[in-house]
This record gives sequence, C-alpha cells and structure tokens, in this order.
Amino acid sequence: MEHNSSNFIRNIVISDLESGKHNTVVTRFPPEPNGYLHIGHAKSIVLNFDLADEFNGKTNLRFDDTNPLKEDVEFVNSIKEDVKWLGYDWDGLFFASDYFEQMYDRAVILIKKGLAYVDDLSAEEMREYRGTLTAPGKESPYRGRTVEENLDLFTRMRNGEFKDGEKVLRAKIDMASPNINLRDPALYRIAHATHHNTGDKWCIYPMYAFAHPLEDAIEGITHSICTLEFEDQRPFYDWVIRECEMESTPHQYEFGRLNITNTVMSKRKLKLLVEEGFVDGWDDPRMPTISGLRRRGYTPEAIRAFCKEIGVAKTTGVVDSQMLDHFIREDLKLKAPRTMGVLDPIKVVITNYPEGQIEWLEAEVNSEVPEMGKIKIPFGREIYIERDDFMEDPPSKYFRLFPGNEVRLKNAYFIKCVDVLKDTDGNIFEIQCTYDPETKSGTGFTGRKVKGTIHWVEATNAVPAEFRLYDPLILDESESDELDLNSSFLDRVNLTSLYVAKGFIESSLANVKPQDKFQFFRHGYFNVDTKYSKPDQPVFNLIVSLKSSFKI
Ligand code: ATP
Ligand code: MG
Repeated sequence: MEHNSSNFIRNIVISDLESGKHNTVVTRFPPEPNGYLHIGHAKSIVLNFDLADEFNGKTNLRFDDTNPLKEDVEFVNSIKEDVKWLGYDWDGLFFASDYFEQMYDRAVILIKKGLAYVDDLSAEEMREYRGTLTAPGKESPYRGRTVEENLDLFTRMRNGEFKDGEKVLRAKIDMASPNINLRDPALYRIAHATHHNTGDKWCIYPMYAFAHPLEDAIEGITHSICTLEFEDQRPFYDWVIRECEMESTPHQYEFGRLNITNTVMSKRKLKLLVEEGFVDGWDDPRMPTISGLRRRGYTPEAIRAFCKEIGVAKTTGVVDSQMLDHFIREDLKLKAPRTMGVLDPIKVVITNYPEGQIEWLEAEVNSEVPEMGKIKIPFGREIYIERDDFMEDPPSKYFRLFPGNEVRLKNAYFIKCVDVLKDTDGNIFEIQCTYDPETKSGTGFTGRKVKGTIHWVEATNAVPAEFRLYDPLILDESESDELDLNSSFLDRVNLTSLYVAKGFIESSLANVKPQDKFQFFRHGYFNVDTKYSKPDQPVFNLIVSLKSSFKI
C-alpha cells in the first residue's frame, strides 16, 4: 500500500519560490469532459488546489475539450458540480476550445519556421513509418513540402476542403529520435464534427499533446501537474512551448495515478460498466465516481482527508479501499446521529406489557457527543428485532435471544424469551417474551447483568424502510496495468454487489431527506438515497459497516 504523506511537488514549488524562478504558483485541474470525475481525479484536484492555496496562488478549472467526438456539456456540468462539492473554488474557468484561434496561429508560426508540415499519409502508413522502440522511424515523402505549400494546405484543411483523415499537420522534429513522441507527432487532425462549445466553426482540431502545453502557457500556469504516463511527453511539451514562442514557460511534473483495490479507475472502464448495465448510472453508489461516492454517503471531508493521507509519489501505487472507509468512519463518528433500524425483522410480543400502551423512552442522539442531546423513542408491547438476533437452538457463546435467555433491549428493558410461535411449515413468525419493568435503561438498575444487547423498533410506530447494502463492485485486486485496453475486467464484476433489505426504522426518522446520514446501531453508517428515497418510504445506502480490520 502507498502510505506516504510526503509531496515532492510541494518541495519543488517551495524551492521555485525561494529561488525566485516564480513569484507565484498557478496550477490547473484539466479534465476532459468525456465522463464523470472519479476519486482518482479527486487526488489531482486536492493536489492542485491545496498546493496553490498554501502559497496564495491560483488554480484554474480548465476543460480540455479538444476532441469533439467524445465530449458533452452533461459532463462539463457534472465536473463543475463535483469540484465545488469537494469544497474547491476555481479562480479561472476556461475551455481549451476558447483558445482554438490562438492555437491555430501558433501552428502557423511552426509552419513558417519550417517546423511543421502537412502530411498525406494514412493513419496506418503513419504508424508503419513511426518505427518502434528499437528501430528508428522513416521520413514521410511529404515531409519536404515548402512553407508556402504547407501554409496553403493548412488553410484549406481549416476551410473544410478535405475529408476526415485525409491530411494531418505534423511537427517536423526527428524521425530517428529514441523518444517516439518526438518522431514528427501530429499537431492537427481533421474532424467534421460539431463541438459542444464551438459548434461547427472548426473542422480541424489540435491534438492533446500540442494543445495542452499551449493551454498551460496561455493561462500562465507555473506548475503543470499530470500523471506518470505523460513523462515521455515532457520533451515534446517543452518543444511546443519553446518553438511556439510562448511568453510564459510552464513546467510539467508527473505523479503516480491513484488506484484502489476492488474497483476500476478510468472513465473508459466506468463508462463500460454504465453502458453494459452492470450499474445504475454514473452515480450508482458502488461506482468510484465522485457522484457515486456522494450518493453512497461519502463526505467531501473524508475524501479530502483520504487524498491527503495517500500523498503524492513518483510511483503508481494501489491503495486499499478500506483506507477510504477508515476516513468516512472517522468523519461520521461524531457527526452522525445514532439510531436503531431493523434490516431483517421478526416480531417480538412482550406478553406482560399492557396492550395498547406506548411509552416514550429517552435515547442519546450520539453517545460520544452529549451536546447532540436526547430524543424520545416509543416502546410498546410489539417490537421488531433482527431475525439473526434470535436462535431457537443456539451454539454455546451465543449471547443474544434464545428460549429462556434474557437480553437487554438497547435504551429500554431486559426481555426474556418465553415462547415462539410457528406456522404450519415450522417457520417462526413471532417470539414471545416477558419484560422486567425494574430494568429500565437509565434508572441505574444493577440487580443482575445480561451478556447481550440487541436493537429493536416499536412495531406500531415503525416506518418501513429499504436498506441497500453493497459489496465491492469488482472482485480481486485493482487492475495491474491501468493502460490495458481490453475489457477483461468485466469478468471480475461482482454480480451480487447489491443486496436490498426491507425492514423498519424508528418513527422519528420518517421525514429524513436525501443525504441525511445516520449510524444504525450495530450495522454501520447509512445515507438517505437521492434517487429512490421518498417521504414515508425512506431508502438508505450502506456507506460503510462499523468494524474495520484496517490500521492506519
Ligand atoms: P481517465 O483515464 O479516467 O479518463 P484521464 O487522465 O484521461 O483519466 P482527464 O480528464 O484527462 O482524465 O484527467 C484530468 C486530470 O486528472 C489529469 O491531470 C489526470 O492526470 C488526473 N487523473 C486522472 N485519473 C487519475 C488518477 N487515477 N489518479 C490521479 N490523477 C488522475
Ligand atoms: Mg483521458
């Protein structure tokens, strides 16, 4: 597990400020609006925003929207919402597409300097000409076009005279470079497609590797932070900044991507899970998307604390998903009201309790936080308890309810099982108990002790509720190679990751609202679902169970 709170990029920023190389810090978070953000993005958001904040700098939110075929305003809006929800405010909100004209002008500069040419090779030919890691590439027969010819062809590309794929603008660098990224990389491609921001204004679009450094320089970014797979792109990044004669010179720094066990972390894979119907949308509570985590009940505080704890390293690590769970438990421990819910109910009738009588008992809202006060909960002759809190024929060391045994009802009385009622098939449908009025909770009763304490809900006031319980969406460890392009991870999808339980909650919870969070005694932390919960028919998502074997 990656367990490293050090941050080498922070050290670089400190030394750049001390040496006077920069007098301010400007970072950016540059998502491509082609999907919803996931917790990997949160790591990058926390890193970029916190770094600038610490040194009174600025952070831009920039949509890297240079590929019209995959991008959509739906994603732009969700990304803005998610960044805000995580607790961050951007300084500038920009779109790479706002810079298309400037990018075009910079490409013209390259052509005029003899550093770019229009190529007619097909995509397949270009791949063949590129060479391999061990063999140098081959120069395209179109590489020798004159500046005039290139300017003319590039203008005609822009004017829509050619079909998709017919021509590309390429940088003229070195087809024999040991770094394949420098073997005349493409700068512009033709795509007759409507762009979410620029509509049909353009039919040529800059390639990511060309556009990104220009975007950074235009915005005066000082430290351009990206993930490790871009390390080999850095020489081209610097080449673009230099040869396009940008006034500002950002530098690129790479850090390790976040991977988490039992999930996948790439928009492409998450999209597949949505499209193949394995989940109920991008915000399914099992998804590692920010919207999924939010719907599940994770808080921005917990996600930020997690991102800070995992640190920023130069290697890609796999973090145990239980570490994220640890932070949500920590965050909710003192915030969430504690209450009782029965997920798999069986009825208990207390035969010596007066019929029709209801008394209101006191319960602490959160026993660790007395300031949260007390509430009243009803108690009566009929209650529900958890089906597995009773056994007719228990093994030794079973301290909950069984015939002849006495247990404590949390916040109420001791009850003793005296009989069970069975249907004709022999299934128990009612447990009969007696209670001892002397044992009322809070009265300081010390007469005798019982070993088991169980939770319950008074039956006539109980509100029916649905509890959605989750197991990991993906079995096994996380993918070993984040860049593998097959979809074999679909074989590891856990087909029983959702279990729906129908039970009861206390009447005081009848009017819960989406996103209200509770600890249900002995079960775990739950969040009211935004999609399915209705007044009088609450639906709760299990955020995390109470216990963890995880040590931080
Ligand atoms: P994906 O592979 O999930 O589509 P991406 O890198 O293509 O991710 P972008 O929208 O381009 O997604 O990412 C925006 C920023 O978030 C980039 O700077 C990227 O490096 C960072 N980022 C994406 N995934 C992770 C991750 N798993 N860990 C850390 N940073 C990430
Ligand atoms: Mg991407």
